[in-house]
Amino acid sequence: MKTFITDKVQNDAIHELSKVIAVPSYCEEAGENEPFGPGPKKALEKVLEIAESIGFTTHIDPKGYYGYADIGEGDQIFGLVCHMDVVPAGNIDAWNTEPFKMVEKDGKLFGRGTQDDKGPSVASMFAVKSIMDAGYTFNKKIRFIFGTDEETLWRCLAQYNKFESPIDMGIAPDAEFPLIYAEKGLQQSYLVGEGSDELNLNIVDAFNAVPGKAIYNGPKQDEVFEALQNHKFDADMTSDGIEIHGNSVHAMNAPEGTNATVRLGIALADVFPDVKILQFLKKFGEDANATNLLGDISDDVSGKLTFNISSLEINSKRSRLQIDMRIPVKVDHDELIKKVEEAVKPFDIKYENFDYVAPLYVPTDTELVKTLMSAYQDVTGDTKSKPAISGGATFARTMNNCVAFGAMLPTTPDFMHQVNENWSKADMRKAMEIIAEAVYRLCV
Ligand SMILES: [Zn+2]
Repeated sequence: MKTFITDKVQNDAIHELSKVIAVPSYCEEAGENEPFGPGPKKALEKVLEIAESIGFTTHIDPKGYYGYADIGEGDQIFGLVCHMDVVPAGNIDAWNTEPFKMVEKDGKLFGRGTQDDKGPSVASMFAVKSIMDAGYTFNKKIRFIFGTDEETLWRCLAQYNKFESPIDMGIAPDAEFPLIYAEKGLQQSYLVGEGSDELNLNIVDAFNAVPGKAIYNGPKQDEVFEALQNHKFDADMTSDGIEIHGNSVHAMNAPEGTNATVRLGIALADVFPDVKILQFLKKFGEDANATNLLGDISDDVSGKLTFNISSLEINSKRSRLQIDMRIPVKVDHDELIKKVEEAVKPFDIKYENFDYVAPLYVPTDTELVKTLMSAYQDVTGDTKSKPAISGGATFARTMNNCVAFGAMLPTTPDFMHQVNENWSKADMRKAMEIIAEAVYRLCV
């Protein structure tokens, strides 16, 4: 195998990376041609400036949603789909370094975005450049696409897909090696039913988390507490009301959690039998695969549907639940929604769309997946790790024929979205070697 990545290549990448880490690029209020505030736009301009300085041609969306950097020529486009926005620093006091100043310590690069996704973006750019520096020319156009609101609503790549050429194949270096070839569809929605004068509840958690706790301080507390006990649900009487205990996990793993809000709803259904949305919750039960409601929804690639309910709102005007569904890749989205609509109708509940992200599915016997796997295995010697499926979401699913590839090794500690985010130089080096080898095999 060729050695594309030298100390100099990596040190150059680190030097340039520090410039984009220095831009706090979390989502803020929009300004003129800064749809997500000044930070993401500035980080986008900075990375394009770096790309240009090492030989890429660049384009920035005049409205500031996205940009891209091209190198090489060919009929096809190989895309590397990245993002320049980050999540906020979080608890500043818990950081040992300044989050928006990259610091090298003990062989690690500290700073917000070193893992997600500025580090992998810049590392991949320099990996691609190293192939050219070794004297090769590409047979495809290689395009780095930089989004700017990956951590929020992906409006950046929606704009890209509206105005720009689609890629023919590609990778999103924004997860873990070896690769993720299937990600379930993601549907967030509301179920809206009639109001009730009996109850006034406003229990709302995040869409993507199983509620780990719910507090009930409405009427008939003794009866509600008794109902909870009849169901053997863990709950305490506190000075704030009844506290129902669950176990919070990410919505994509909803069946592994215990949903405190659903448990409350099931108990309330015994005490307030006329409130239809509660009867719906009783029917739904604690089955976060929604089998009671929809029957078995699954496929042989990505497993079962998950269905997380994360709110319970009831007032005199309406009742409402928010739901997060992770849909198996081979299940037809529109047919599933029709099924949900039918299933909630007997409870006078209407289905309302909030946000939908299509699934990712590139079969493992495709040229793309086979080549990426072989590059990973040959560079690392790891033949045990298999292509993975994930209920999470990367930009890979916004593009055709695109998988998540790296840039964290299976052994890299996960610091994404956490305080003291850091990426070790050794892992970065390995990631650069894998990306360079993969792009060499696919595009030279
Ligand atoms: Zn990311």
